[in-house]
Amino acid sequence: MTRVAIVGGGIGGLAAALFLGRRGHRVALFERDGHRPGPDADREFFDWHRPGVPQAVQPHGLLAPVRTVLRAEVPDVYRAMLRMGARERNEFEWFDDRGPTRPGDEDLVTIQTRRIVLEAALHDAVHREPGVEVRLGEPVEGLLVDRRGDVPQVTGVRSASGTHDADLVLDAGGRRSPVPRWLSGAGCRDVVVENHRVQIAYFCRWYRLRPDGPCDAGRVKAGSTSAFAVGGVFPSDNGIFAASLTVSTADPTRAALRDPAVFERVSRTFPAIAAWLALEPEPVSGVLAMGGLHNRWTTPADADGPVVTGLVGVGDSVAYTNP
Ligand SMILES: Cc1cc2nc3c(=O)[nH]c(=O)nc-3n(C[C@H](O)[C@H](O)[C@H](O)COP(=O)(O)OP(=O)(O)OC[C@H]3O[C@@H](n4cnc5c(N)ncnc54)[C@H](O)[C@@H]3O)c2cc1C
Repeated sequence: MTRVAIVGGGIGGLAAALFLGRRGHRVALFERDGHRPGPDADREFFDWHRPGVPQAVQPHGLLAPVRTVLRAEVPDVYRAMLRMGARERNEFEWFDDRGPTRPGDEDLVTIQTRRIVLEAALHDAVHREPGVEVRLGEPVEGLLVDRRGDVPQVTGVRSASGTHDADLVLDAGGRRSPVPRWLSGAGCRDVVVENHRVQIAYFCRWYRLRPDGPCDAGRVKAGSTSAFAVGGVFPSDNGIFAASLTVSTADPTRAALRDPAVFERVSRTFPAIAAWLALEPEPVSGVLAMGGLHNRWTTPADADGPVVTGLVGVGDSVAYTNP
């Protein structure tokens, strides 16, 4: 049995805690945010203020490999997501001519849901897991580092409640993880970071389909491009969908898209969004924007080898990209 401390309880930290707990390890999961999401997806999605996870309200589509991992590792979590309204969509449904099927095609199924449905299901399972101690509202404040060997070793974490020894620390602190800074502060060589600013910004608006109307716009293409934007639709759980525009940050007119009337007029120039808006859905959010985007890859090793041992990154703390 290994003692594991996890920095961050987003999707990466929650999933890692659950997978490790179910393999018999003892896990302490530290999450800065004190809120535990409940079953009301709408309330959790629209009312939970999460400045540390700005992408949480942007549309997500969970690709087939996510489904495969969930079904293999935590089938109870996957079933809970379906009960909460997540929908399965076979990728072949997009095509008129499906051609001959091959083994494995049955797994080409994406999950259409808001990200909160996955998070809420993971939270429930993690809280039930006897080997996992969940410390919500308790940020990790630093690492315990033993510098006696050739390579410094991370031996635990520090929080307001004291020090917590661990055989392994996972950095699941997301795209703004403080761990690289803590390592430098502890006298370790700098981790290697490759970082590129991405000159795009996302704008989205959420809608609810009318209960007495059709449940989707049929087999329209999900997205298309124009000279000034990429426009697309993200069908989600419980009759919710997002219209999404991705624009260049060099476009000086982009701020106007924050006005819902402008956003809708521009959106209607994209066939997929126009088809979904023709269903006369009820808008359930304003226009939500996200900018300041980067592609980033971090590794705690340089040309001389590992800068530290006892520490492994998961999720966005390791790598993230934008389309
Ligand atoms: C616009 C956009 C759209 C995306 N769409 C998709 C998609 O369609 N499909 C998909 O699979 N992925 C998508 N992603 C990527 C996905 O959102 C991320 O990969 C995912 O959130 C990473 O999870 P994580 O747990 O690593 O980080 P996060 O979810 O960011 O969680 C990090 C957690 O660490 C906590 N934390 C930070 N510091 C501390 C500390 N010191 N102590 C304790 N806790 C701390 C934070 O509070 C946070 O809860 C999208 C991303 C963006 C930006």
